[in-house]
Amino acid sequence: MDRPLRVAVIGSGPSGMYAADALVNQTAIPVSVDVIDRLPVPFGLVRYGVAPDHLSIRSVRDTLDKTLDKPGVRFIGNLEVGRDISMASLHDYFDAIVLTYGASRDRRLDIPGEDLDGSIAATDFVAWYCGHPDADRATFERLLPTATSAVVVGVGNVAIDVTRVLAKTVGELDHTDMPQHVLETLRASNLTDIHLLGRRGPAQATFTTKELKELGELLEADVVVDPADLAFDEASEQAIATDKAIARNVEVIREWSRREQTGKPRRVHVHFLARPVELRGDDRVREVVVERTALDGSGGVTGTGVLTTIPADLVVRSVGYRGTALDEVPFDERRGVIPNADGRVQRDGASVPGEYVAGWIKRGPTGIIGTNKKDAAATVASLLDDVQNGTLPKPGNASAEQFDQWLAEHANDVVTTQGWRSIDEAERALGQSAGRPRTTIHDTDALLAASRG
Ligand code: NAP
Repeated sequence: MDRPLRVAVIGSGPSGMYAADALVNQTAIPVSVDVIDRLPVPFGLVRYGVAPDHLSIRSVRDTLDKTLDKPGVRFIGNLEVGRDISMASLHDYFDAIVLTYGASRDRRLDIPGEDLDGSIAATDFVAWYCGHPDADRATFERLLPTATSAVVVGVGNVAIDVTRVLAKTVGELDHTDMPQHVLETLRASNLTDIHLLGRRGPAQATFTTKELKELGELLEADVVVDPADLAFDEASEQAIATDKAIARNVEVIREWSRREQTGKPRRVHVHFLARPVELRGDDRVREVVVERTALDGSGGVTGTGVLTTIPADLVVRSVGYRGTALDEVPFDERRGVIPNADGRVQRDGASVPGEYVAGWIKRGPTGIIGTNKKDAAATVASLLDDVQNGTLPKPGNASAEQFDQWLAEHANDVVTTQGWRSIDEAERALGQSAGRPRTTIHDTDALLAASRG
Protein backbone atom coordinates (compact mmCIF):
# COMPACT_ATOMS: atom_id res chain seq x y z
CA MET A 1 0.00 0.00 0.00
CA ASP A 2 1.43 3.40 -0.92
CA ARG A 3 -0.32 5.18 1.95
CA PRO A 4 -0.71 4.47 5.68
CA LEU A 5 -3.41 1.98 6.65
CA ARG A 6 -6.46 4.01 7.69
CA VAL A 7 -8.18 2.81 10.87
CA ALA A 8 -11.25 4.26 12.60
CA VAL A 9 -11.53 3.48 16.32
CA ILE A 10 -15.10 3.97 17.54
CA GLY A 11 -15.07 5.02 21.19
CA SER A 12 -12.32 6.89 23.01
CA GLY A 13 -12.48 5.12 26.36
CA PRO A 14 -9.51 3.12 27.65
CA SER A 15 -9.88 0.26 25.15
CA GLY A 16 -10.15 2.67 22.18
CA MET A 17 -7.16 4.73 23.29
CA TYR A 18 -5.12 1.58 23.99
CA ALA A 19 -6.05 0.25 20.53
CA ALA A 20 -4.96 3.53 18.90
CA ASP A 21 -1.72 3.40 20.86
CA ALA A 22 -1.00 -0.20 19.86
CA LEU A 23 -1.68 0.67 16.20
CA VAL A 24 0.77 3.57 16.02
CA ASN A 25 3.39 2.06 18.35
CA GLN A 26 4.34 -0.69 15.91
CA THR A 27 6.59 -0.01 12.94
CA ALA A 28 5.84 -2.94 10.60
CA ILE A 29 2.82 -1.24 9.02
CA PRO A 30 2.37 2.55 8.81
CA VAL A 31 -1.04 3.43 10.27
CA SER A 32 -3.14 6.55 10.74
CA VAL A 33 -5.92 6.39 13.32
CA ASP A 34 -9.04 8.50 13.80
CA VAL A 35 -10.51 7.98 17.26
CA ILE A 36 -14.20 8.83 16.94
CA ASP A 37 -16.50 9.48 19.92
CA ARG A 38 -20.15 10.48 20.15
CA LEU A 39 -19.27 12.83 23.03
CA PRO A 40 -17.32 16.07 22.55
CA VAL A 41 -14.62 14.85 24.98
CA PRO A 42 -12.42 11.74 25.00
CA PHE A 43 -11.68 8.96 27.51
CA GLY A 44 -15.13 7.40 28.10
CA LEU A 45 -15.34 5.57 31.41
CA VAL A 46 -12.10 7.11 32.66
CA ARG A 47 -13.87 10.47 32.61
CA TYR A 48 -17.46 9.29 33.17
CA GLY A 49 -17.12 6.06 35.17
CA VAL A 50 -14.07 6.11 37.44
CA ALA A 51 -15.09 7.77 40.69
CA PRO A 52 -13.84 11.39 40.81
CA ASP A 53 -12.32 10.84 44.27
CA HIS A 54 -10.13 8.02 42.93
CA LEU A 55 -7.51 10.46 41.72
CA SER A 56 -4.78 7.92 41.02
CA ILE A 57 -7.04 5.77 38.80
CA ARG A 58 -8.34 8.89 37.05
CA SER A 59 -4.77 9.99 36.33
CA VAL A 60 -4.74 7.21 33.68
CA ARG A 61 -6.34 9.96 31.64
CA ASP A 62 -2.93 11.68 31.35
CA THR A 63 -1.48 8.48 29.85
CA LEU A 64 -4.38 8.13 27.42
CA ASP A 65 -4.09 11.81 26.50
CA LYS A 66 -0.46 11.34 25.42
CA THR A 67 -1.68 9.00 22.68
CA LEU A 68 -3.63 11.88 21.14
CA ASP A 69 -0.31 13.73 20.65
CA LYS A 70 1.26 10.86 18.72
CA PRO A 71 1.80 11.35 14.98
CA GLY A 72 -0.98 9.71 12.99
CA VAL A 73 -3.60 9.90 15.77
CA ARG A 74 -6.58 12.28 15.61
CA PHE A 75 -9.53 12.70 17.97
CA ILE A 76 -12.90 13.38 16.34
CA GLY A 77 -15.55 14.02 19.00
CA ASN A 78 -19.27 14.81 18.86
CA LEU A 79 -19.64 12.41 15.95
CA GLU A 80 -22.03 9.52 16.53
CA VAL A 81 -21.80 6.41 14.39
CA GLY A 82 -25.33 5.38 13.41
CA ARG A 83 -26.62 8.96 13.78
CA ASP A 84 -24.11 11.27 12.03
CA ILE A 85 -22.27 8.71 9.95
CA SER A 86 -23.09 5.12 8.99
CA MET A 87 -20.92 2.03 9.30
CA ALA A 88 -21.17 1.68 5.51
CA SER A 89 -19.65 5.16 5.03
CA LEU A 90 -16.90 4.35 7.52
CA HIS A 91 -16.08 1.23 5.50
CA ASP A 92 -15.75 3.47 2.45
CA TYR A 93 -13.41 5.90 4.17
CA PHE A 94 -11.32 3.48 6.26
CA ASP A 95 -9.51 0.18 5.70
CA ALA A 96 -10.51 -1.12 9.13
CA ILE A 97 -12.87 -0.21 11.97
CA VAL A 98 -12.21 -1.10 15.63
CA LEU A 99 -15.37 -0.92 17.76
CA THR A 100 -14.58 0.06 21.33
CA TYR A 101 -17.77 1.81 22.44
CA GLY A 102 -18.05 -0.08 25.74
CA ALA A 103 -21.09 -1.15 27.73
CA SER A 104 -22.86 1.90 29.02
CA ARG A 105 -26.39 0.66 29.83
CA ASP A 106 -27.59 -0.66 33.17
CA ARG A 107 -28.80 -4.16 34.00
CA ARG A 108 -32.14 -4.50 35.72
CA LEU A 109 -33.35 -6.37 38.81
CA ASP A 110 -36.65 -7.45 37.22
CA ILE A 111 -38.58 -7.22 40.48
CA PRO A 112 -41.93 -5.50 41.21
CA GLY A 113 -41.67 -1.77 41.93
CA GLU A 114 -38.38 -1.32 40.11
CA ASP A 115 -39.78 1.62 38.11
CA LEU A 116 -41.06 3.58 41.12
CA ASP A 117 -39.80 7.15 41.39
CA GLY A 118 -36.58 7.15 43.43
CA SER A 119 -35.41 3.80 42.02
CA ILE A 120 -32.45 4.50 39.76
CA ALA A 121 -29.59 2.76 37.99
CA ALA A 122 -26.03 3.18 39.25
CA THR A 123 -25.01 3.95 35.66
CA ASP A 124 -27.23 7.06 35.79
CA PHE A 125 -26.03 8.12 39.23
CA VAL A 126 -22.37 7.67 38.25
CA ALA A 127 -22.97 9.60 35.01
CA TRP A 128 -24.52 12.44 37.04
CA TYR A 129 -21.73 12.78 39.61
CA CYS A 130 -19.07 12.59 36.89
CA GLY A 131 -20.77 15.37 34.87
CA HIS A 132 -21.86 13.31 31.84
CA PRO A 133 -23.71 15.52 29.33
CA ASP A 134 -26.66 13.08 29.17
CA ALA A 135 -27.16 12.93 32.96
CA ASP A 136 -30.58 13.81 34.34
CA ARG A 137 -29.57 16.63 36.68
CA ALA A 138 -33.11 17.61 37.72
CA THR A 139 -33.93 14.12 39.02
CA PHE A 140 -30.91 13.98 41.32
CA GLU A 141 -31.44 17.54 42.52
CA ARG A 142 -34.97 16.49 43.50
CA LEU A 143 -34.21 13.04 44.95
CA LEU A 144 -31.07 13.57 47.02
CA PRO A 145 -32.15 16.36 49.37
CA THR A 146 -35.44 14.54 50.06
CA ALA A 147 -34.01 11.08 50.86
CA THR A 148 -32.93 9.93 54.31
CA SER A 149 -32.32 6.22 53.70
CA ALA A 150 -30.82 4.65 50.58
CA VAL A 151 -30.38 1.06 49.46
CA VAL A 152 -27.61 0.20 47.00
CA VAL A 153 -28.12 -3.24 45.43
CA GLY A 154 -24.98 -5.19 44.51
CA VAL A 155 -21.55 -5.60 46.07
CA GLY A 156 -19.21 -4.87 43.16
CA ASN A 157 -16.82 -1.93 42.88
CA VAL A 158 -19.44 0.31 41.29
CA ALA A 159 -21.76 -0.26 44.28
CA ILE A 160 -18.86 0.66 46.56
CA ASP A 161 -18.22 3.86 44.54
CA VAL A 162 -21.89 4.85 44.72
CA THR A 163 -22.10 4.16 48.46
CA ARG A 164 -18.90 6.08 49.17
CA VAL A 165 -20.03 9.13 47.18
CA LEU A 166 -23.39 9.08 48.97
CA ALA A 167 -21.72 8.74 52.38
CA LYS A 168 -18.90 11.26 52.02
CA THR A 169 -19.04 14.88 53.10
CA VAL A 170 -18.56 17.60 50.49
CA GLY A 171 -15.28 18.38 52.26
CA GLU A 172 -14.10 14.89 51.24
CA LEU A 173 -15.07 15.54 47.61
CA ASP A 174 -14.31 19.15 46.74
CA HIS A 175 -10.71 18.41 45.72
CA THR A 176 -12.15 16.34 42.84
CA ASP A 177 -13.29 17.57 39.41
CA MET A 178 -16.99 16.92 40.11
CA PRO A 179 -19.20 19.64 38.62
CA GLN A 180 -20.05 22.37 41.11
CA HIS A 181 -23.80 21.63 40.93
CA VAL A 182 -23.10 18.00 41.96
CA LEU A 183 -21.21 19.15 45.05
CA GLU A 184 -24.05 21.53 45.93
CA THR A 185 -26.65 18.76 45.60
CA LEU A 186 -24.55 16.40 47.71
CA ARG A 187 -24.20 19.19 50.28
CA ALA A 188 -28.00 19.35 50.47
CA SER A 189 -28.29 15.57 51.01
CA ASN A 190 -30.13 14.48 54.16
CA LEU A 191 -29.13 10.82 53.97
CA THR A 192 -28.41 9.22 57.30
CA ASP A 193 -28.43 5.50 56.38
CA ILE A 194 -27.07 3.74 53.32
CA HIS A 195 -27.60 -0.01 52.98
CA LEU A 196 -25.44 -2.08 50.65
CA LEU A 197 -27.05 -5.42 49.70
CA GLY A 198 -25.11 -8.52 48.67
CA ARG A 199 -27.32 -11.43 47.62
CA ARG A 200 -24.55 -13.98 48.34
CA GLY A 201 -21.97 -14.13 51.16
CA PRO A 202 -18.85 -12.05 51.93
CA ALA A 203 -16.64 -14.64 50.19
CA GLN A 204 -18.62 -14.24 46.94
CA ALA A 205 -18.56 -10.44 46.70
CA THR A 206 -16.84 -8.96 43.63
CA PHE A 207 -15.43 -5.77 45.17
CA THR A 208 -11.68 -5.39 45.68
CA THR A 209 -10.15 -4.93 49.14
CA LYS A 210 -8.62 -1.50 48.57
CA GLU A 211 -11.99 -0.09 47.46
CA LEU A 212 -13.88 -1.95 50.21
CA LYS A 213 -11.60 -0.61 52.97
CA GLU A 214 -12.38 2.99 52.06
CA LEU A 215 -15.94 2.51 53.34
CA GLY A 216 -14.53 1.96 56.82
CA GLU A 217 -12.49 5.17 56.73
CA LEU A 218 -15.15 7.80 56.09
CA LEU A 219 -15.11 11.02 58.12
CA GLU A 220 -18.80 11.19 58.95
CA ALA A 221 -20.09 7.64 58.43
CA ASP A 222 -19.85 4.57 60.66
CA VAL A 223 -19.79 1.19 58.96
CA VAL A 224 -22.15 -1.44 60.38
CA VAL A 225 -22.08 -5.21 59.76
CA ASP A 226 -24.30 -7.76 61.50
CA PRO A 227 -22.04 -10.67 62.63
CA ALA A 228 -24.85 -13.04 61.51
CA ASP A 229 -24.06 -12.06 57.91
CA LEU A 230 -20.59 -13.61 58.19
CA ALA A 231 -21.84 -16.99 57.03
CA PHE A 232 -19.52 -19.36 55.23
CA ASP A 233 -20.24 -22.74 53.66
CA GLU A 234 -17.64 -25.22 52.46
CA ALA A 235 -17.25 -23.44 49.11
CA SER A 236 -16.64 -20.13 50.91
CA GLU A 237 -14.05 -21.67 53.27
CA GLN A 238 -12.25 -23.12 50.28
CA ALA A 239 -12.34 -19.78 48.44
CA ILE A 240 -10.92 -18.01 51.50
CA ALA A 241 -8.16 -20.63 51.83
CA THR A 242 -7.10 -20.46 48.18
CA ASP A 243 -7.72 -16.84 47.17
CA LYS A 244 -5.82 -14.17 49.09
CA ALA A 245 -8.01 -11.36 47.73
CA ILE A 246 -11.14 -13.06 49.09
CA ALA A 247 -9.43 -13.74 52.42
CA ARG A 248 -8.51 -10.05 52.70
CA ASN A 249 -12.08 -8.93 51.91
CA VAL A 250 -13.48 -11.27 54.54
CA GLU A 251 -10.96 -10.03 57.12
CA VAL A 252 -12.02 -6.41 56.54
CA ILE A 253 -15.71 -7.31 56.92
CA ARG A 254 -15.00 -9.41 60.02
CA GLU A 255 -13.21 -6.47 61.62
CA TRP A 256 -16.16 -4.19 60.80
CA SER A 257 -18.60 -6.63 62.40
CA ARG A 258 -16.71 -6.17 65.70
CA ARG A 259 -16.75 -2.37 65.54
CA GLU A 260 -18.84 -0.23 67.88
CA GLN A 261 -20.69 2.66 66.24
CA THR A 262 -19.07 5.98 67.13
CA GLY A 263 -22.12 8.21 66.69
CA LYS A 264 -21.22 9.67 63.32
CA PRO A 265 -24.20 11.28 61.53
CA ARG A 266 -24.30 8.66 58.76
CA ARG A 267 -24.18 4.88 58.76
CA VAL A 268 -23.18 2.50 55.97
CA HIS A 269 -24.85 -0.88 56.65
CA VAL A 270 -23.25 -3.73 54.71
CA HIS A 271 -25.62 -6.72 54.37
CA PHE A 272 -24.94 -10.16 52.92
CA LEU A 273 -27.34 -13.03 52.10
CA ALA A 274 -29.92 -10.33 51.36
CA ARG A 275 -31.80 -10.44 48.06
CA PRO A 276 -34.21 -7.64 47.10
CA VAL A 277 -37.52 -9.12 45.95
CA GLU A 278 -39.76 -6.04 45.74
CA LEU A 279 -39.65 -2.26 45.97
CA ARG A 280 -42.72 -0.76 47.64
CA GLY A 281 -43.93 2.81 47.79
CA ASP A 282 -46.57 5.36 46.85
CA ASP A 283 -45.61 8.35 44.71
CA ARG A 284 -42.04 7.28 45.39
CA VAL A 285 -40.15 4.22 46.62
CA ARG A 286 -40.40 3.87 50.41
CA GLU A 287 -39.00 0.44 51.28
CA VAL A 288 -37.18 -2.57 49.90
CA VAL A 289 -38.48 -6.05 50.68
CA VAL A 290 -35.49 -8.31 51.21
CA GLU A 291 -35.43 -12.10 51.31
CA ARG A 292 -32.82 -13.82 53.43
CA THR A 293 -30.80 -16.27 51.34
CA ALA A 294 -28.70 -19.27 52.33
CA LEU A 295 -25.47 -20.44 50.72
CA ASP A 296 -26.01 -23.59 48.67
CA GLY A 297 -22.53 -25.10 49.10
CA SER A 298 -21.37 -24.37 45.56
CA GLY A 299 -21.02 -20.58 45.52
CA GLY A 300 -24.70 -19.86 44.87
CA VAL A 301 -27.65 -19.16 47.16
CA THR A 302 -31.24 -20.28 47.64
CA GLY A 303 -34.10 -18.24 49.06
CA THR A 304 -35.22 -19.00 52.63
CA GLY A 305 -38.62 -17.32 52.33
CA VAL A 306 -37.79 -15.12 55.34
CA LEU A 307 -38.67 -11.53 54.43
CA THR A 308 -37.70 -8.23 56.06
CA THR A 309 -38.02 -4.63 54.92
CA ILE A 310 -35.48 -1.82 54.79
CA PRO A 311 -36.76 1.78 54.64
CA ALA A 312 -35.51 3.44 51.45
CA ASP A 313 -36.52 6.60 49.62
CA LEU A 314 -33.66 6.09 47.19
CA VAL A 315 -32.73 2.74 45.63
CA VAL A 316 -29.69 2.43 43.40
CA ARG A 317 -29.35 -0.84 41.50
CA SER A 318 -25.68 -1.51 40.85
CA VAL A 319 -25.91 -4.95 39.30
CA GLY A 320 -23.63 -4.53 36.31
CA TYR A 321 -23.40 -2.77 32.97
CA ARG A 322 -24.47 -4.13 29.59
CA GLY A 323 -23.54 -3.35 26.01
CA THR A 324 -25.93 -2.18 23.30
CA ALA A 325 -26.17 -2.97 19.61
CA LEU A 326 -24.91 -0.66 16.88
CA ASP A 327 -26.73 -0.40 13.54
CA GLU A 328 -25.33 -2.76 10.88
CA VAL A 329 -23.10 -4.61 13.41
CA PRO A 330 -23.80 -8.18 14.65
CA PHE A 331 -24.80 -8.36 18.32
CA ASP A 332 -25.22 -11.11 20.90
CA GLU A 333 -28.31 -9.91 22.80
CA ARG A 334 -27.97 -12.49 25.55
CA ARG A 335 -24.39 -11.61 26.47
CA GLY A 336 -24.61 -7.94 25.47
CA VAL A 337 -21.43 -8.13 23.39
CA ILE A 338 -20.38 -8.11 19.73
CA PRO A 339 -19.61 -11.73 18.75
CA ASN A 340 -15.96 -12.06 17.80
CA ALA A 341 -13.07 -14.44 17.31
CA ASP A 342 -9.80 -12.98 18.62
CA GLY A 343 -11.29 -9.50 18.15
CA ARG A 344 -12.55 -10.16 14.59
CA VAL A 345 -16.30 -9.38 14.42
CA GLN A 346 -18.27 -12.50 13.50
CA ARG A 347 -21.46 -12.77 11.45
CA ASP A 348 -22.97 -16.25 10.92
CA GLY A 349 -19.70 -17.87 11.94
CA ALA A 350 -17.48 -15.87 9.57
CA SER A 351 -15.34 -12.78 10.13
CA VAL A 352 -16.78 -9.49 8.87
CA PRO A 353 -13.94 -8.11 6.72
CA GLY A 354 -12.34 -5.00 8.22
CA GLU A 355 -14.38 -5.01 11.47
CA TYR A 356 -12.80 -5.54 14.89
CA VAL A 357 -13.85 -5.14 18.50
CA ALA A 358 -12.06 -4.52 21.82
CA GLY A 359 -12.86 -3.76 25.47
CA TRP A 360 -16.18 -4.22 27.29
CA ILE A 361 -18.23 -4.49 24.08
CA LYS A 362 -15.96 -7.43 23.14
CA ARG A 363 -15.77 -9.37 26.41
CA GLY A 364 -18.42 -7.84 28.73
CA PRO A 365 -18.11 -5.38 31.64
CA THR A 366 -15.33 -6.99 33.64
CA GLY A 367 -11.80 -6.26 34.76
CA ILE A 368 -9.89 -3.13 35.64
CA ILE A 369 -8.78 -0.39 33.24
CA GLY A 370 -5.45 -2.10 32.62
CA THR A 371 -7.28 -5.25 31.43
CA ASN A 372 -8.27 -3.27 28.34
CA LYS A 373 -4.66 -2.65 27.35
CA LYS A 374 -3.96 -6.34 26.81
CA ASP A 375 -7.37 -6.85 25.27
CA ALA A 376 -6.91 -3.98 22.76
CA ALA A 377 -3.38 -5.14 21.89
CA ALA A 378 -4.71 -8.64 21.10
CA THR A 379 -7.36 -7.20 18.76
CA VAL A 380 -4.79 -4.97 17.06
CA ALA A 381 -2.53 -8.03 16.58
CA SER A 382 -5.40 -9.77 14.73
CA LEU A 383 -5.95 -6.69 12.58
CA LEU A 384 -2.27 -6.39 11.67
CA ASP A 385 -2.11 -10.15 10.90
CA ASP A 386 -5.01 -9.67 8.49
CA VAL A 387 -3.15 -6.81 6.78
CA GLN A 388 -0.05 -9.03 6.41
CA ASN A 389 -2.17 -11.93 5.14
CA GLY A 390 -4.05 -9.70 2.69
CA THR A 391 -7.46 -10.54 4.15
CA LEU A 392 -8.60 -6.96 4.73
CA PRO A 393 -11.25 -5.76 2.30
CA LYS A 394 -10.10 -3.77 -0.72
CA PRO A 395 -9.79 -0.07 0.10
CA GLY A 396 -13.19 1.66 0.00
CA ASN A 397 -14.56 3.79 -2.79
CA ALA A 398 -13.93 7.07 -1.07
CA SER A 399 -10.42 8.29 -0.39
CA ALA A 400 -8.86 9.75 2.73
CA GLU A 401 -9.24 13.19 1.16
CA GLN A 402 -12.96 12.63 0.81
CA PHE A 403 -13.29 11.87 4.54
CA ASP A 404 -11.26 14.97 5.35
CA GLN A 405 -13.54 16.95 3.09
CA TRP A 406 -16.58 15.43 4.84
CA LEU A 407 -15.00 16.46 8.16
CA ALA A 408 -14.33 19.98 6.90
CA GLU A 409 -18.00 20.28 5.96
CA HIS A 410 -18.93 19.23 9.52
CA ALA A 411 -16.18 21.30 11.19
CA ASN A 412 -18.67 23.33 13.22
CA ASP A 413 -20.06 20.18 14.78
CA VAL A 414 -17.09 17.94 15.48
CA VAL A 415 -14.43 18.41 18.15
CA THR A 416 -10.82 17.75 17.13
CA THR A 417 -7.80 17.08 19.33
CA GLN A 418 -7.20 20.82 19.36
CA GLY A 419 -10.82 21.41 20.42
CA TRP A 420 -10.37 18.90 23.26
CA ARG A 421 -7.21 20.75 24.37
CA SER A 422 -9.28 23.96 24.57
CA ILE A 423 -11.93 22.17 26.68
CA ASP A 424 -9.19 20.79 28.91
CA GLU A 425 -7.82 24.31 29.46
CA ALA A 426 -11.28 25.72 30.11
CA GLU A 427 -11.99 23.05 32.74
CA ARG A 428 -8.72 23.76 34.53
CA ALA A 429 -9.44 27.51 34.47
CA LEU A 430 -12.99 26.92 35.76
CA GLY A 431 -11.59 24.80 38.60
CA GLN A 432 -8.95 27.34 39.52
CA SER A 433 -11.56 30.09 39.73
CA ALA A 434 -13.12 28.07 42.58
CA GLY A 435 -9.83 27.00 44.17
CA ARG A 436 -10.03 23.49 42.67
CA PRO A 437 -7.61 21.78 40.26
CA ARG A 438 -10.34 21.26 37.66
CA THR A 439 -14.12 21.42 37.35
CA THR A 440 -15.83 19.19 34.80
CA ILE A 441 -17.98 21.04 32.28
CA HIS A 442 -21.14 18.93 32.04
CA ASP A 443 -23.21 20.67 29.39
CA THR A 444 -22.84 19.76 25.71
CA ASP A 445 -23.31 23.34 24.45
CA ALA A 446 -20.77 24.63 26.98
CA LEU A 447 -18.33 21.89 25.95
CA LEU A 448 -18.75 22.78 22.28
CA ALA A 449 -18.30 26.48 23.04
CA ALA A 450 -15.14 25.71 25.05
CA SER A 451 -13.82 23.53 22.21
CA ARG A 452 -13.88 26.59 19.95
CA GLY A 453 -11.61 28.39 22.39
P1 NAP B 1 -19.77 -6.52 39.21
O1 NAP B 1 -18.45 -6.57 39.88
O2 NAP B 1 -20.12 -7.60 38.26
O3 NAP B 1 -20.86 -6.47 40.40
C1 NAP B 1 -22.23 -6.65 40.17
C2 NAP B 1 -22.90 -6.93 41.49
O4 NAP B 1 -24.29 -7.00 41.26
C3 NAP B 1 -22.51 -8.28 42.12
O5 NAP B 1 -22.44 -8.12 43.52
C4 NAP B 1 -23.69 -9.17 41.74
O6 NAP B 1 -23.92 -10.23 42.63
C5 NAP B 1 -24.81 -8.18 41.88
N1 NAP B 1 -26.02 -8.59 41.19
C6 NAP B 1 -26.17 -8.91 39.88
N2 NAP B 1 -27.47 -9.20 39.62
C7 NAP B 1 -28.13 -9.05 40.79
C8 NAP B 1 -29.49 -9.19 41.18
N3 NAP B 1 -30.43 -9.53 40.28
N4 NAP B 1 -29.83 -8.97 42.47
C9 NAP B 1 -28.90 -8.62 43.38
N5 NAP B 1 -27.59 -8.45 43.07
C10 NAP B 1 -27.22 -8.68 41.79
O7 NAP B 1 -19.99 -5.17 38.38
P2 NAP B 1 -19.73 -3.62 38.70
O8 NAP B 1 -19.67 -3.33 40.14
O9 NAP B 1 -20.74 -2.93 37.85
O10 NAP B 1 -18.29 -3.37 38.07
C11 NAP B 1 -18.01 -3.59 36.67
C12 NAP B 1 -16.51 -3.76 36.48
O11 NAP B 1 -15.84 -2.51 36.69
C13 NAP B 1 -15.91 -4.74 37.45
O12 NAP B 1 -14.91 -5.49 36.80
C14 NAP B 1 -15.30 -3.83 38.50
O13 NAP B 1 -14.25 -4.41 39.23
C15 NAP B 1 -14.83 -2.68 37.63
N6 NAP B 1 -14.67 -1.47 38.47
C16 NAP B 1 -13.50 -1.28 39.08
C17 NAP B 1 -13.33 -0.18 39.92
C18 NAP B 1 -12.00 0.01 40.62
O14 NAP B 1 -11.07 -0.69 40.33
N7 NAP B 1 -11.89 0.91 41.56
C19 NAP B 1 -14.36 0.70 40.13
C20 NAP B 1 -15.58 0.49 39.48
C21 NAP B 1 -15.72 -0.61 38.64
P3 NAP B 1 -23.52 -11.74 42.20
O15 NAP B 1 -22.03 -11.77 42.27
O16 NAP B 1 -24.22 -12.58 43.21
O17 NAP B 1 -24.02 -11.92 40.77
